Amino acid sequence: MAFEGLTERLQNAMRKLRGKGKVSESDLRETMREIRLALLEADVNFTVVKDFVKQVRDRAMGADVLEGLNPAQQIVKIVDEELTKTMGDEAVPLNKSAKIPTIIMMVGLQGAGKTTTAGKLALKLKNEENARPLMIAGDVYRPAAIDQLVQVAAGIDVPVFQLGTDVDPVEIVRQGLAQAEKDHNDYVIIDTAGRLQIDEQLMDELANIKELAHPDEILLTVDAMTGQNAVATAEGFNGKLDVTGVVLTKLDGDTRGGAALSIRSVTGKPIKFIGQGEKMTDLDVFHPDRMASRILGMGDMLSLIEKTQKEYDEKQAKELTEKIQENSFDFNDFLDQIEQIQKMGPMDELMKMIPGMANNPALKNAQVDPKDMNHLKAVVYSMTPQERTNPDVLNPSRRRRIAAGSGRPIHEVNRMIKQFNQMKKMMNQVSKGNMSGMEQLMGN
Ligand code: GDP
Repeated sequence: MAFEGLTERLQNAMRKLRGKGKVSESDLRETMREIRLALLEADVNFTVVKDFVKQVRDRAMGADVLEGLNPAQQIVKIVDEELTKTMGDEAVPLNKSAKIPTIIMMVGLQGAGKTTTAGKLALKLKNEENARPLMIAGDVYRPAAIDQLVQVAAGIDVPVFQLGTDVDPVEIVRQGLAQAEKDHNDYVIIDTAGRLQIDEQLMDELANIKELAHPDEILLTVDAMTGQNAVATAEGFNGKLDVTGVVLTKLDGDTRGGAALSIRSVTGKPIKFIGQGEKMTDLDVFHPDRMASRILGMGDMLSLIEKTQKEYDEKQAKELTEKIQENSFDFNDFLDQIEQIQKMGPMDELMKMIPGMANNPALKNAQVDPKDMNHLKAVVYSMTPQERTNPDVLNPSRRRRIAAGSGRPIHEVNRMIKQFNQMKKMMNQVSKGNMSGMEQLMGN
């Protein structure tokens, strides 16, 4: 599987921080050392690794600014964001011409997946934009190359312009473009020759095609499995042709990650698409953020972190703080809090993320099990509005009525009211900066 080793090593590096209330400098140094080794082993370019590690370290040092996350989660978030940034932050769309046709020139080494990708792209444009692309067979050095393109095109029902192998590729492209104009094709995809490695003659030929066709997009296809070689290839092609985008193929294989993580930084050119299989439908737009989560293999954790931050709405937090300060936190607020927590999903992880709640003994005793949460709710629902806003009126007979109404035993109702009062008291003490209250909250 792609990125397997890298994912595992990154996860291991960060797992050690879990459960730590505070990350010391030496913890951080150790984690960063492991992240650096993991990236180098995945064949990521040395300079890219160096910059990446520095960025993460600098941000992690000042990381106490994020509300709602513990240190390990903050570092996961920083690593995720920096991976995303390294790969270009945002998806970059295909360049399009103001008037038809948009001309796309495919370049790349032999075997990288150029012809396959040309077909995949044509199909994508057809399916998604109802486009009518024309493909031009510009690889005259291998007769099999033209046959392959014709075959690919037939499979997706797209026309191919070809003049066999005896005509100069620049001339083929010239005539192909004229044909597209005549037929009003909205896209032209030019397949060009590849070599086993970059050579001058090939580069000159490609430069001539570029000069004639003025492509809107020069897409370089590179094989992700080749790691640093893919990066060197990209530099070579880009130096000569100033490509506009990269297609990374064979991400369905067990690539280590070096190409995906280095190409953007090294060449400055965006990865626009990724090939993830041999079928014609296996081409996807490249989203740096999705790729980062895939590399981290922490999709669930990352969406949880995102969710917590979103749900931890600042306005609500402020309102709650005010209520606590005024000592007017009542059972309605308590109910709101329970609902807020339930809305967010899995209890254990989430409880730890709510500031001040992580070690709150009141909530700990109340058990953060969804079933118990529902019991707590049932008890509150059985209270009158007056009882909810003014819990002091809850005398034994009212409590018995609530127990009967909610179907919970009386001792549970009593316990819950006691916990509620404790919680309210502690919240109030904390809000006044009372240290013993704080210590109680922290479970000391
Ligand atoms: P070209 O020489 O650059 O035109 O490369 P081809 O398009 O002929 O592709 C070379 C080989 O790679 C073929 O067997 C393709 O099926 C295969 N290939 C291309 N893209 C992918 C991909 O994304 N995943 C996998 N697994 N194979 C691919």
